[in-house]
Amino acid sequence: MRIVIMGPPGAGKGTQARRLSAELKVPHIATGDMLREAVKEGTELGERVRWYMERGKLVPDEVMIAVVRERLSKPDCSMGFILDGFPRTIPQAEALNRILEEQGAKLDCVLEIDVPEDIIVERISLRRVCRRCESAYHLKYNPPKEEGRCDRCGGELYQREDDKEEVVRRRIKVYREETEPVLEYYRRRGLLRRVNGVGSIDEVFSRVLEAIRGGCIGGGDDRAPIRLDEEENRATPA
Ligand code: ADP
Ligand code: ADP
Ligand code: ZN
Repeated sequence: MRIVIMGPPGAGKGTQARRLSAELKVPHIATGDMLREAVKEGTELGERVRWYMERGKLVPDEVMIAVVRERLSKPDCSMGFILDGFPRTIPQAEALNRILEEQGAKLDCVLEIDVPEDIIVERISLRRVCRRCESAYHLKYNPPKEEGRCDRCGGELYQREDDKEEVVRRRIKVYREETEPVLEYYRRRGLLRRVNGVGSIDEVFSRVLEAIRGGCIGGGDDRAPIRLDEEENRATPA
């Protein structure tokens, strides 16, 4: 299964993608996590992207495309992947098509986690992230067992610099302007599956599984995309 997961900052992409990755046994590829890792390690890539990330701006397409191209060529991606945080622009979406074409592969579906703005702001403002493994917690909705510590690896939890209010506003604006057109791009290709992201993490996860079972499995071939319930899902054959 080759799945892209999209949605505004703080929608719950990472949370759902991690669970889905465990369920489907394909890697979770989160470009934000990869970049934060590079910044933390002080690599050349980290130095190049830090300025953009701190300001809530998009890292230039050519940098991101190179990062994703390299990652998708690793053997663990041969059976599929959950791509979280990429593509965020139309040129990135076109590049992803080319990369997959070169591999003789295709996307099975694109999930959009749909959450209204007031809820994403609440989710982001109380988000805490593990410094070591990037797992996300929420002080109210998904608190760690021990305060300030990651359940999974014991790492220290912190608030991302770019989760502070001013930068969040910029990131939401960038999403509306640069990333929403990508949803339309996939909708026209019959790949978009919209999932209501309001509700508990478990509730959203069951909707994600339902969307995948209903529309993605067996996809990626040449037949016409399945027409889903219009109310639930805006996807229609191109
Ligand atoms: P994204 O990857 O889209 O930026 P995250 O997965 O990091 O989003 O989730 C953002 C924040 O919201 C985190 O603090 C996470 O624990 C919390 N969260 C995720 N899903 C839900 C949900 N369904 N209900 C409440 N909080 C959630
Ligand atoms: P969120 O989970 O809140 O949506 P991410 O962790 O995915 O945010 O991304 C954090 C930052 O990393 C972005 O604000 C941007 O600066 C950079 N970034 C991640 N992925 C991309 C991408 N595909 N294109 C450009 N910038 C990216
Ligand atoms: Zn951790």
